[in-house]
Amino acid sequence: MINVTKSHIPSMKVFNRYFQKAIDKNWITNRGELVKELEEKLKNYLGVSQLTLTTNGTLPIQIAIKALELRGEIITTPFSYVATTSSIVWEGCTPVFVDIDPLHFTIDPELIEDSITDKTSAILATHVYGNPCDVDAIDQIAKRNNLKVIYDSAHCFGVNYMGKSIFTYGDVSTCSFHATKIFHTGEGGCFVSSDEQLHQKMFYHHNFGHDGTEAFFGLGINAKMSELQAAMGLAVFDEIPQILERRRNAVEIYDKLLESTDLGRFHVREGTDWNYHYYPVLFSSEELLLKAMKHLKLNGNHPRRYYYPSLNTLPYVNYKEMPISESISKRVLCLPLSSYLKEDQIKAITDIICEIL
Ligand SMILES: *Cc1c(COP(=O)(O)O)cnc(C)c1O
Repeated sequence: MINVTKSHIPSMKVFNRYFQKAIDKNWITNRGELVKELEEKLKNYLGVSQLTLTTNGTLPIQIAIKALELRGEIITTPFSYVATTSSIVWEGCTPVFVDIDPLHFTIDPELIEDSITDKTSAILATHVYGNPCDVDAIDQIAKRNNLKVIYDSAHCFGVNYMGKSIFTYGDVSTCSFHATKIFHTGEGGCFVSSDEQLHQKMFYHHNFGHDGTEAFFGLGINAKMSELQAAMGLAVFDEIPQILERRRNAVEIYDKLLESTDLGRFHVREGTDWNYHYYPVLFSSEELLLKAMKHLKLNGNHPRRYYYPSLNTLPYVNYKEMPISESISKRVLCLPLSSYLKEDQIKAITDIICEIL
């Protein structure tokens, strides 16, 4: 069976060597040595000044909303994973959807300003498939209207835009290190902010609000990463170059084999060093997508409809029509992509798709 993704399993010898350090100290969580070591490595690798590891990629979004004290309406994208929208609702704010641009699949900045009201407090957008939003336009809109900006950068490990880490844009960027992501810690994530005060506030929030063992800064939650997760992260981190190389290779093979088809693609924004996180293809109709999916599954391939449904159709939000996101959601399919995918497997997948087209 070939799934949409396959978690990269690092060398168990290396994993055990790292984890043994935690065992030797009998220190399994609460900011142990491994979490701190991984944070340092990631800050260096990603080129960011402040980064805190968390236990998943959803809590940092909620913590960012909390720390920025957002209220009322938050402008957001309907084309993302459900965690982007659910975090807004969970924090007691109202998501206001703005449609995406049909080339990049990211929120359309030209439509943002029309949706701003006196209740709008922020923009929460996703760099979908690791493709940067139009960060410069969003930055200008936010400044003009006194709004905060959070980027759900769950797909962006290692992505650079205009020569610097995509995590350096906006007030806060969050990432996910879930087992299905390029770099992973089983479950995990982080938040990044260059604002020292804000970062410190989020840091308190992620550890129950503790300021020392007996004093409290304020309200908090438990979003700490454990040493088990960090050991996995350190072991995977050592293999990042191979992971990226194998994914790039797989994407190039897909591109070549699907070159002559009329499948639609998203455009990687100019100025981006992309990370080959997903391989989405756009069918001309949902009917054709379903047919392709059926045949792929019969042959043991399990692509996923990332992202379906369009989030403006969730049962707990106010529905407003988003024609582009709804249309793309119905027609986009992410083909299997991982560090293990072989050329003959890609060939089998593309043969099935070509036959259906
Ligand atoms: C994976 C993902 C998340 C959630 O991350 P978890 O680590 O699973 O909590 C949030 N947003 C997007 C866009 C994602 O793809």
